[in-house]
Amino acid sequence: MSETDLAARPRALVVEDEEHLARLVADYLARDQITAEIAADGQRALELARASAPDVVILDLMLPGIDGIEVCRRLRTFSDAYVIMLTARAEETDKLVGLAVGADDYMVKPFSPRELTARIRAMLRRPRSPQPGDGGPVRRFGDLEIDPAAREAVVAGARADLTKLEFDLLEALSSRPRAVFTRRQLVDRVWGQDWFGDEHIVDVHIMRLRRKLGDDAGCPRYVLAVRGVGYRMGPGA
Ligand code: CA
Repeated sequence: MSETDLAARPRALVVEDEEHLARLVADYLARDQITAEIAADGQRALELARASAPDVVILDLMLPGIDGIEVCRRLRTFSDAYVIMLTARAEETDKLVGLAVGADDYMVKPFSPRELTARIRAMLRRPRSPQPGDGGPVRRFGDLEIDPAAREAVVAGARADLTKLEFDLLEALSSRPRAVFTRRQLVDRVWGQDWFGDEHIVDVHIMRLRRKLGDDAGCPRYVLAVRGVGYRMGPGA
């Protein structure tokens, strides 16, 4: 293998204090042509993430020192890497907290390393960098303006600071203003059809999107929940 081939390989960071498990995951990734580094604690994980800018971080929740949730929160201040949380318990709260601090997916231990690498492969097929938008005219919903070409949302004249995922959700919903999208449809459009993860990741990002748009979850103006179905945009201007 040439150096160029090695440089082109996706890079993963495995953050896990159980050495045996970390090694096992890294070996599986290596077999799948993904270069993996290992960090045994949160501090080291953040140092390595800064130094080597991984494409994906496999992040154990229970770590000595800084825990996985805090690592994820800090990681998100400088990195757009995909994050898969590893949790020992199938607890809803762990999962939701993980997604809320910016994780993309989670797996409950014990998990199949084969499934983990399949999920990582699916993630890496969807680059995080903004896709060139189709453009098209600015869409207006009350005092919310969405500019697909510039990938900007402006509320009452002020630009909303949205992440790529948040903008993609808003773009999808506003592309068909009268349509109701199911969570699955939104996952397909925003995360990709080969996404294996939990569809409730949509709710977490909608919640953050609404907050940034100044939308009240109890009485939203822009992104409406349709009970038992999914989401749609509020009435157009
Ligand atoms: Ca651990």
